[in-house]
Amino acid sequence: MIDSAVSTGSGRSRRAPLRKALVMSAIGIVGAALTVALPSTAAAADCSAGYVGLTFDDGPNPSNTTTLLNTLKANGVRATMFNIGQNARNNPSLVRAQVDAGMWIGNHSWTHPHLTQMSGSQIQSELQQTQQAIQQITGSAPRLFRPPYGETNTTLKSIEQQLGLREIIWDVDSQDWNGASTAQIVQAASRLQNGQIILMHDQYATTVAAIPQIVANLRSRNLCPGMISPSTGRAVAPDGGTTPPPISPSPTPTTTPSPPPSGQGGCTATIQTVNSWPGGFQSNVTVKAGSSAISRWTVTWSWPSGQSITQLWGGALSGSGSSVTVRNATYNGSLGAGASTTFGFTANGTAATPTPSCGTA
Ligand SMILES: [Zn+2]
Repeated sequence: MIDSAVSTGSGRSRRAPLRKALVMSAIGIVGAALTVALPSTAAAADCSAGYVGLTFDDGPNPSNTTTLLNTLKANGVRATMFNIGQNARNNPSLVRAQVDAGMWIGNHSWTHPHLTQMSGSQIQSELQQTQQAIQQITGSAPRLFRPPYGETNTTLKSIEQQLGLREIIWDVDSQDWNGASTAQIVQAASRLQNGQIILMHDQYATTVAAIPQIVANLRSRNLCPGMISPSTGRAVAPDGGTTPPPISPSPTPTTTPSPPPSGQGGCTATIQTVNSWPGGFQSNVTVKAGSSAISRWTVTWSWPSGQSITQLWGGALSGSGSSVTVRNATYNGSLGAGASTTFGFTANGTAATPTPSCGTA
């Protein structure tokens, strides 16, 4: 549907004519069948040469995402999906299918614009809407962002940092968006080295057809598809994805308990800074009910003026400036005696850990 296109610096055309793409595809499939040799063994994966990041942009879309996911699963590999926010909003079941298939979800803007031609507030909206949509569907907001067309600037980078996003471009461009044949896509992937990332797209049959040969080629070189680390922006082992890796350099997590509640009811709040980066940080706040169930809670803290929440999940924000109040998002969301819930936020400013207080009013 939409091309994610030009890698940094070159002036090549952004969109191949459809007819050319189809002709190239047909030639490519024939060529691949004739020239690509599959490995002679199907041994268990040997990842001794390291990991590479397979990325698929511009999804999800109803016409191809399911086929892509089935092909990736059939070949036993996981990849990173840089979803367009409005596509995610329109196809939430496909986003869930991506997660269920073991894929990692990245942010690729809301409408796939040329962000470097937009104002700061427009960029903020493009990124934040996508964060929120994916958060609502999957339960967690992306940590990786790929700018459409690979176009970036200092304004965009600053907003990425505020949202806790790591910008991911690519090392190898498969050129699938530019009419590359399956054989050419396979050939491009054969250049991948440890830690590197390849650009591909969600919507091309040529790309899906390349996957078995890409996987075979990687295996022959003892490379394995992995996750992209939000800390380093490089491909690493997939099991790094089971817990959120810190953005480097990560401070030692600090926990500040709130004063004990008065009486037997009430609630307590603890805050933990889990990530930080230049100009921003991410914290989780755990709200725990006392010995009585509570139907509403509010967590309040103060921090330096100029510091503000840029993104919040699991709670609703009220108050502003140096005094921050977060309450449960729905007032009918009760918390049983001794039960706890967690909300999280990203903020600009420094990672000064505030001391929260919890109330039930
Ligand atoms: Zn794109």
